Amino acid sequence: MSTDVETSLRGPKAYDLARKALQAMEANQVWPTALNFELWVHYVAAQDTPLAAEINALIEKREPFTEALGEQLAAQFLPKAKLNGEILEAGQTLSKELDSVSRAIESARESSEAYGQQLANASESLDGEDAQAIKSMVESLTVATRKVREENHALESQLHDTTAELGRLREHLEQVRRDAMTDALSGLANRKAFDEALDRACANASGEPMTLAVIDIDHFKTFNDTWGHQTGDQVIRYVASVIDRNSPSPRVSARYGGEEFAIIFPGESARNALAVLEAVREEVSSRILKRRSTNEDLGAITISAGIAERRDNEGPASLIERADGALYASKRGGRNRTSCADPVAAAA
Ligand code: GH3
Ligand code: MG
Ligand code: MG
Repeated sequence: MSTDVETSLRGPKAYDLARKALQAMEANQVWPTALNFELWVHYVAAQDTPLAAEINALIEKREPFTEALGEQLAAQFLPKAKLNGEILEAGQTLSKELDSVSRAIESARESSEAYGQQLANASESLDGEDAQAIKSMVESLTVATRKVREENHALESQLHDTTAELGRLREHLEQVRRDAMTDALSGLANRKAFDEALDRACANASGEPMTLAVIDIDHFKTFNDTWGHQTGDQVIRYVASVIDRNSPSPRVSARYGGEEFAIIFPGESARNALAVLEAVREEVSSRILKRRSTNEDLGAITISAGIAERRDNEGPASLIERADGALYASKRGGRNRTSCADPVAAAA
């Protein structure tokens, strides 16, 4: 949550704000899940934010506030604060660790300096001393040696702990990074991850073929209207799972938007991509879907796809546009089909 809202939720207006959020949620038929509550607290807390503008537009359009929509809004408007917070926290732990290591190193350095000094004093005053004096010198050297050994031991164990803590931090940051790149509903790469992957694939494609496919569920609005958005969400997950299974690395599959997906095929021609897309399309359309809660038959759904193989020096925007054009041709041609932006490339 943003710090302002966090502060309000611990201040005198806290319950008032929470009540208002719940009332607004109830009025708009939004389930009181934790994520929805977080979004709507932000919404009632400040009306002049991009999130509030977005929610107002959705209310106006009477758009159902689905789980996917909530996740999408949270990904767009909330994660920055969360991400910044987590990174800040990780950074603070890290600098605390580093502080204590450098303190330990400094103290070890001081002890060994003192030890060196003691040795020098000892060898200076050894000449012509009697047995008692030598004995006491050896004793003080023994004490100093033990102290240095202990300091070294403490330093070693500190370094060991710090290394372990750094490992945990690295894992945690990696998890945060993965979450920021993953679409919560489908588990596929999200739009941000897709954009980055496509930029990379275009930049690295010199001389190699590279193909982009975009996929869209057919008549999904009707499906949602008939069976409800929760069931619609299950269909999105199902289509995503078929796409994912058919796009092992280095292919990249992503949820591009609401009921739209994309697959990047680095090093592959439109012809290869076409075979994959046809397999996905057939698998999706051949399965009779059942509603999980009631086992009711939902019939089959179909998808349409568009494919474009990258032209020399072509950038991501143009490639997406041509793949979208091919998808549009599939829709116009009757849906449940795959079209290529450049049929010659596919036939070659
Ligand atoms: P077409 O065959 O031309 O693609 O028709 P369509 O109805 O699929 O296309 P349209 O773009 O008009 O509608 C897409 C619908 O997808 C609208 C929206 O209700 C639904 N949708 C988008 N995102 C989600 C989501 O995350 N969950 C659910 N359940 N539905 C979604
Ligand atoms: Mg669509
Ligand atoms: Mg559609």
